[in-house]
Amino acid sequence: MFDRISATFQDIVRSITGKATISPKNIEEAVEQIKYALLEADVHVRVVRRFVNQTIQEATGERVLKSVTPGQQFVKILYDKLVSFLGDERQDLTLKGPDTLSIILLAGLQGSGKTTTAAKLALHLKKKGRRPLLVAADLARPAAIDQLETLGASIDVPVYTDRSQKDPRAVVKRALSHAKRQAVDTLIVDTAGRHQVDRELMDELSRLVRDLSPDEALLVADAMTGQTAVDVAKAFNEAVGITGVVLTKFDSDTRGGAALSIRTITGAPIKFIGVGEKVDDLEPFYPDRIASRILGMGDVVTLVEKARELTEAEEAEKLQEKIKKATFTLEDYLEQFQKIKKMGSLQKLAELVPGMEAALGGQEIDEKAIRREEAIILSMTPAERRNPRIIGPSRKKRIARGSGTSVYEVNRLLKNFEKTRLMMKKMLKQKGMQQSMPTSW
Ligand code: GDP
Repeated sequence: MFDRISATFQDIVRSITGKATISPKNIEEAVEQIKYALLEADVHVRVVRRFVNQTIQEATGERVLKSVTPGQQFVKILYDKLVSFLGDERQDLTLKGPDTLSIILLAGLQGSGKTTTAAKLALHLKKKGRRPLLVAADLARPAAIDQLETLGASIDVPVYTDRSQKDPRAVVKRALSHAKRQAVDTLIVDTAGRHQVDRELMDELSRLVRDLSPDEALLVADAMTGQTAVDVAKAFNEAVGITGVVLTKFDSDTRGGAALSIRTITGAPIKFIGVGEKVDDLEPFYPDRIASRILGMGDVVTLVEKARELTEAEEAEKLQEKIKKATFTLEDYLEQFQKIKKMGSLQKLAELVPGMEAALGGQEIDEKAIRREEAIILSMTPAERRNPRIIGPSRKKRIARGSGTSVYEVNRLLKNFEKTRLMMKKMLKQKGMQQSMPTSW
């Protein structure tokens, strides 16, 4: 995401931060470049104009030009502007306490990812200890009910359906009384979508909003559609009043125009982003972290949080115990690889680690090499994985053959493993056995 914008901003940051002095002309040139990058990224024209004007106004002031570090001051302005256009503070869901039923209504065009997002949100809330109930009120698309049922089953969240009903209001009404009888604290209502914004869709939604007065009325919008997503958000907000936006397919959108425009054009905050097709591919939207990513400052916070979520306390404890007792084996090593893979591609990971992208010098991470390391471990016998010391020259040859690699690569892997094991042990000692293992990878 944000590929082009990011490249331009990073170019500017690189060329301007080093300068001892900058002139209004330097700023003008940089802003011009930014303008084109934003337009190319499908950022709304009005937003581009505002961004450019504000940046010029703030950057040409005495405070920047006369400062001892004008370059840094300029970058700070860019960063603050990006954060502000992305929506400033992180906006979380506003739900009631667990003793009172909360309602989340999801609206959006067909294909925007509404049904998938319903399940993603259910899983997100479940992980936070809430007890959600999914309600299938998208009666316009018959397959939507089945889809929600399947998704609900996969995350072990109940789904309320009523196939005999033609009126979504009736379904929701029954779901409400059903919820009161069950141990449920949050209703997530998947409503109908159409191919385009039309009167009927808006009327149906308005009626539902009136009936339910939901705590959250979220618009699910497809980031890949760029300005259309912004127009849709505007239309929904004007017609029914939305409390926020979930921007889906963020993983496939390389331009990022919708993310930068929605807040300014509609006033509604982006609360979550969809970053893949799987049920756990949902992330809270943090304007400051996205701004850092665009400027290439890395994003440690997201990384640390992901790692934390993936490694449950118990697992970490087991691992620490193993390291302490020196029983950390290649099997555990392999498991760690697989965990890192679960976090997404390594390239994605590198974007999050400060300095890593710069260190790579634009070179792609060699994911193939990582896969080869994995293949090598998989070609070992369980005994070898548990005790690599028994791996002599003939075993090395066999492993290399089995994994389609070379003895040199087998040796390198064994060396890496040993280095990692020692490093982990040292870190554990230093950190006094804190649960910080996964981030050391
Ligand atoms: P609905 O018609 O709005 O209910 O849309 P669906 O939930 O059926 O989603 C439409 C398609 O978009 C499906 O193929 C989903 O897997 C896909 N999808 C949904 N959210 C995301 C996302 O965040 N990223 C990607 N890559 N695909 C998504």
